[in-house]
Amino acid sequence: MNIHEYQGKELLRQYGVAVSYGTVAFSPEEAVKAAKELSTDVVVVKAQIHAGGRGKAGGVKIAKNLDEVRTYAKELLGKVLVTHQTGPEGKEIKRLLIEEGSDIKKEYYVGLVLDRQTARVTLMGSEEGGVDIEEVSENTPEKIFKEVIDPVVGLTGFQARRMAFNMNIPPKLVNKAAKFMLGLYTVFIEKDASIVEINPLVETGDGNILALDAKFDFDENALYRHKDIVELRDFDEEDPKEIEASKYDLSYISLDGNIGCMVNGAGLAMATMDTINYYGGTPANFLDVGGGATAEKVTEAFKIILSDKNVKGIFVNIFGGIMKCDIIAEGVIQAAKEVSLDVPLVVRLEGTNVELGKKLLNESGLNIVAAGTMADGAKQIVELVG
Ligand code: ADP
Ligand code: MG
Repeated sequence: MNIHEYQGKELLRQYGVAVSYGTVAFSPEEAVKAAKELSTDVVVVKAQIHAGGRGKAGGVKIAKNLDEVRTYAKELLGKVLVTHQTGPEGKEIKRLLIEEGSDIKKEYYVGLVLDRQTARVTLMGSEEGGVDIEEVSENTPEKIFKEVIDPVVGLTGFQARRMAFNMNIPPKLVNKAAKFMLGLYTVFIEKDASIVEINPLVETGDGNILALDAKFDFDENALYRHKDIVELRDFDEEDPKEIEASKYDLSYISLDGNIGCMVNGAGLAMATMDTINYYGGTPANFLDVGGGATAEKVTEAFKIILSDKNVKGIFVNIFGGIMKCDIIAEGVIQAAKEVSLDVPLVVRLEGTNVELGKKLLNESGLNIVAAGTMADGAKQIVELVG
């Protein structure tokens, strides 16, 4: 789960991690009011969306007086911002961060991620901050330094200082930078984050080290123990289909193809997507209805798939182990009756109560193409979608 920059900075502040000061604003009036309370003449008006690359896309404005704050706030609020991370459809700006302008001497990068190869939280840092860190990692990977963190010991002071030296932080600021990284690590662990990225971390003219940007991603499996984080969720930033799916405890991820997939088990769901691709089709979603799905859950899953305008056909691929094939069939029939089904539907069932499931589908009067195998089903739906 992602949060906004201003929320991330608030969280960092709670842990004593140095961040620039600012307030969220939802209207130009609030923006001006917030700017009046800041101690700097230069104020930065920043679009708050769950995507980076705002600076380059015109979502970060430097205002020299209150009139400019108002003008920029008016310009940005309601605007659809397209950055290299939003996709071509962009994201509407509904909130702004009104922040003190910093006198930037140099921009750095620091981040914490869970590295799957070492299975450890890893601190990353570079003196090439501010720009696309992705480019730095591709073209000059030697400029990104890593510290692999022992989970028992945690990030140690010497590792943080070594990182600061590697990043060429001026010696007199190394202790401040190390304190920053140690605080960042504490937030990361205590809040069960999966990513925290500070780009840029800046050295200011008056000799401070602080975060000018903050990106957090939290492990959704741990959200149950972080009510304060859950409250920061902004539904406007999420795909409505994914929100709907989460209400029914369905694992759903929207993709940009045109074949809707309803599958049980993440492994089978991945294999189904691969098979569709193999036959030249593109999946519209990943959907795992889970092991203990009820007919109601299947109905909701079906509705969610159909609410996607890009869906030109549906492939149901179920292995009834814990899940019984007749339950799936009932759900499919119920859903197809509730929402008018006008796209081709291919169903492949295997496992517990498969005969009963097939019988229900055959007798339903629905226009369903039965498939014998997964490959056969994938091939048929790709052909039907065309
Ligand atoms: P994004 O990563 O989405 O482009 P950032 O928050 O990193 O957004 O802002 C982009 C750039 O804007 C920063 O690299 C920095 O140069 C400048 N900037 C952002 N906030 C401030 C600030 N408070 N004071 C001065 N410059 C800022
Ligand atoms: Mg940034």
